[in-house]
Amino acid sequence: MKRNRLLPSSKQANIFSKKPRFNKRSHLLALSLLTFAGIFITTIVLATSQPADTSFESKIIDLPNLSAEMQAMSSKSNLAGKKDELAAVSPSETPELPTASAIKPAEKKDNELAAIEQQAIDELQAPAESYDPSVSPSTTQNITSNSDLNWVEETVKSGDNLSLIFQRIGLGATDTHNIAQAGKGVEPLLNLRPGQVLRFGFDNNQDSKTLQHLQLQLSPIQTLNVKLTAEGYKTNLVTREVEKRQTNTSGSIESSLFEAGIAAHLSHKLVMELAYVFGWDIDFALDLRQGDNFTVVYEEDYLDGDKIADGNILAAEFTNHGNTYRAIRYTDDSGASHYYTPNGDSMRKTFNRTPVHFSRISSKFNPNRKHPILKTSRPHQGVDYAAPIGTPILATGDGKVDFVGNKGGYGRTVILSHTGKYTTLYAHMSKFKKGVNRGSRVQQGDVIGYLGMSGLATGPHLHYEFRINGVHRNPLTVALPKAEPIPKKYRNAFEQQSRPLLAQLNNISKTRLAFNDN
Ligand SMILES: [Zn+2]
Repeated sequence: MKRNRLLPSSKQANIFSKKPRFNKRSHLLALSLLTFAGIFITTIVLATSQPADTSFESKIIDLPNLSAEMQAMSSKSNLAGKKDELAAVSPSETPELPTASAIKPAEKKDNELAAIEQQAIDELQAPAESYDPSVSPSTTQNITSNSDLNWVEETVKSGDNLSLIFQRIGLGATDTHNIAQAGKGVEPLLNLRPGQVLRFGFDNNQDSKTLQHLQLQLSPIQTLNVKLTAEGYKTNLVTREVEKRQTNTSGSIESSLFEAGIAAHLSHKLVMELAYVFGWDIDFALDLRQGDNFTVVYEEDYLDGDKIADGNILAAEFTNHGNTYRAIRYTDDSGASHYYTPNGDSMRKTFNRTPVHFSRISSKFNPNRKHPILKTSRPHQGVDYAAPIGTPILATGDGKVDFVGNKGGYGRTVILSHTGKYTTLYAHMSKFKKGVNRGSRVQQGDVIGYLGMSGLATGPHLHYEFRINGVHRNPLTVALPKAEPIPKKYRNAFEQQSRPLLAQLNNISKTRLAFNDN
């Protein structure tokens, strides 16, 4: 039986290594990947449970991906992109005003860990993949060249706010107030970040300095415009179209998936995504073999001919121990994306194998365990995960809270019931997550409590049980049900979309085989 290879934290340092390697470079690499893997899983959790609110109602996909903000941005660009719309300055041509939520950065989930990890994500992604406006190759091209106005540019410094900047360029408190009242879309101006660039367009009238047009570059693709109209200042968010280019690559495992991915010119993000897509079928910590190989068809985002970000994996193939797995991405009408097999089965399962990241298994499932001294049968009906007190415990599947409270030797315990016959139990918690009450619903990956040593526990650990129809099963090896296949109403569209992608995978495989034979 396969383990869930992404989640077994005890093995996480090995995710990308076929065999343990101890030279300094690999050690660092492993460490950074360890961090990345955890963050990445959290990203999934964040993305699934906290869809960013956008005016276009596109949902955040449940994938490792760019930050929620960037996702919101790129999803908008798909729908609302209008190249060079900046020139459209007449109020009549002004697109619909964005709602506040449209441009407000996605709210952080209200748990400490999520916040910390989100910050780490931002930092990690910043050098390679951030849409940092200050380093954008196209920043200058976005300046509106309205010859009637005199343009002044100002970069936001650390500790700046709108009124400080307004003072610097000679505008008064009334101007600040009027801009702040421009409407709901104005939020980014009230939450300026260092490095952002503001452009002020003044009229040419020497007697009065009237601000006609204010621009804030939110990203290479998004500009917030505030223009003076007969009814005062009005906001308008302009999104440029990102060009999606499809590309593909292949690789063969020599020592690790990570190294093979980099050799195949995949970014860290795409390697992680590849590991995630196949992570339910292939144990990347234990099963990887020299000669295993992969092919990835993916998108890249371009703006003005420059690549600005990695897109998504559209289709991929992984051959492990001679078994070939294929995955196709499908985005439904609501904007949610999932990976499916060519048959339309889900690539993921309804349960995660492990309820805590970064833990180690301290005691395995053993129905016949003998007491070391008494030699009597003392079965261990679950798996113990040792980790520091306070480590978040995650629901392994969607479900309903059946029990939350003290339960004898189990201490503080949560029991979840999942569609029909499955229940999971989480014991020895230090505290419960707020809002986890009897009858409340939880989603896979939601924090339900925090690791502790309440009840009969000799040290901090989570005792985790998995039951089918009330019978204890080994959580590490039990066959997990697959998640829902492609819904019937999408099947035709899915097949249509997957046909050319599968043909591409076939062609690449053929080419590689021919190449290998020579
Ligand atoms: Zn136990």
